[in-house]
Amino acid sequence: MKALVLKEKNSLAILDLNLEENFGPDNVRIRIHSVGICGSDVHYYQFGKIGNFIVTEPMVLGHEASGTVIEAGKNVSHLKIGDRVCMEPGIPDLRSRAVMEGMYNLDPAVRFWATPPIHGCLRETVVHPAMFTFKLPENVSYAEGAMVEPLSVGLQAVKKANVKPGDVALVSGCGTIGLVTGLAAIAAGCSKIIITDMIEPKLEQAARFGMVPVNIKKQDLQSVVDKATGGWGVDVIFEASGSEAAIAGIFQPLCPGGRVVFIGMPVNPVAMDIVAAQAKEAHIETIFRYANLYPRALALLESGKINVKPLITDRFKFADAVKAFEYAANPQPRTVKIVIEMY
Ligand SMILES: [Zn+2]
Repeated sequence: MKALVLKEKNSLAILDLNLEENFGPDNVRIRIHSVGICGSDVHYYQFGKIGNFIVTEPMVLGHEASGTVIEAGKNVSHLKIGDRVCMEPGIPDLRSRAVMEGMYNLDPAVRFWATPPIHGCLRETVVHPAMFTFKLPENVSYAEGAMVEPLSVGLQAVKKANVKPGDVALVSGCGTIGLVTGLAAIAAGCSKIIITDMIEPKLEQAARFGMVPVNIKKQDLQSVVDKATGGWGVDVIFEASGSEAAIAGIFQPLCPGGRVVFIGMPVNPVAMDIVAAQAKEAHIETIFRYANLYPRALALLESGKINVKPLITDRFKFADAVKAFEYAANPQPRTVKIVIEMY
């Protein structure tokens, strides 16, 4: 089948691959329709590695996908041929201790699409466990289905933050993950979202969602926070930039007893002001991907409580997938999510 293959860093091609996949009774075969390009895909393309995950053999990219069921195993009861679906890209070992303890996203043996050595889903079809495959509501498009993966990251962060009705939140970073986290926080009951970045078109996008944009190049964040909270500080901070400078001062806008969730992944270890956190008895949370949130993400899209359509800014056909990655490596500031359509 045709697939978009990263041969080594900076070298991508559409190749005809013979991928061996076992089709078991609990699996479905899916014809892929839409795949979102994630920051991690672009990072592998440009650098050939993320941390200790190193691309040593050609690997198919892509993990944010939707498609149509074209074959269903004999044990599969909740899906049938023709169903439009989206898929969780990470499959744990179902007998693992992490799964038994209710943290399947933290199984050390998880197999995650497009994380070496596991092939991703930028290809014509995939075989996938039915229990990690979710039917799209009728009013949710394939492109929105591909957005369920990043949206689930935002939902995981909001869940870990224990958001309460009326909370004021600060989101640091206005990329896809910052924006979906802001949307998830609004859906969870936050009364106000202050969101920071340095790129004006991204902040304008956030403002259209009703968030309060702060350009940290031109504006003083602390005075915006003080004004919004009567000098008390925000209840929750979502760190979605991974930036060393943002993390260095992350506790300053927080209220006493507030919560901070670290979502962004700094490229290198960074310094954090522990005393600033202690002086507020800050609750510190981290997230790694998500667990049990695809059904909730789909319910929020179906109900219209979350609208990700404005985030889908660019579409490429699969034949132009290499061009799509070249663009993704050097996008215009207005670009949020690039989606590749297989057909
Ligand atoms: Zn992703």
